Amino acid sequence: MPHAPVMVYSPEHCNVRLTNWDNARQTSNKYGPDAVGMYYNIFVYKWVEIFSDLDPEGYGGIIEVVTAMDETNIYWQRGDVFTRPNESERLEGLAYPDGNIFLAERGKLSDTALAHELVHVALLAVNGDPDRDHLGDEHKGWNWMHENLIFEVSLAYARALESPLRFREGVDVR
Ligand SMILES: [Zn+2]
Repeated sequence: MPHAPVMVYSPEHCNVRLTNWDNARQTSNKYGPDAVGMYYNIFVYKWVEIFSDLDPEGYGGIIEVVTAMDETNIYWQRGDVFTRPNESERLEGLAYPDGNIFLAERGKLSDTALAHELVHVALLAVNGDPDRDHLGDEHKGWNWMHENLIFEVSLAYARALESPLRFREGVDVR
């Protein structure tokens, strides 16, 4: 399918640093850096609590960029080039082997999409394979405990939103 690559997003667009994550950056779209930074903290500590197989500090270099993208403008990254996926794709999120994550803007951060993509990135860090077929048999790594982790992270994040130290979703920080 002859699509001219469309340069919409590139790593230099991801110039908003996530709170408490020196090496994690995002575009300044839908999700605020405080909320996403907190989400990362929750994910890492839940992961360590359940699997105890990765130093939380190790995530700083692994999870480098998360970008929130408009649902009508989700682009695959191939090297430095972003190209448009098939029109029929309705993607909630994507994780790339370099640790980059894309999220569709139509969701909320309290949905499970970010935790799902973070599991891919964490499995890559731990096993060297992001396990693209999840619970399927072709790739190994993803099991029911990861499904549970996704639920736990989403729940913990939703609770944190209700706490006195509140972070608002959907804040435009530009
Ligand atoms: Zn997946």
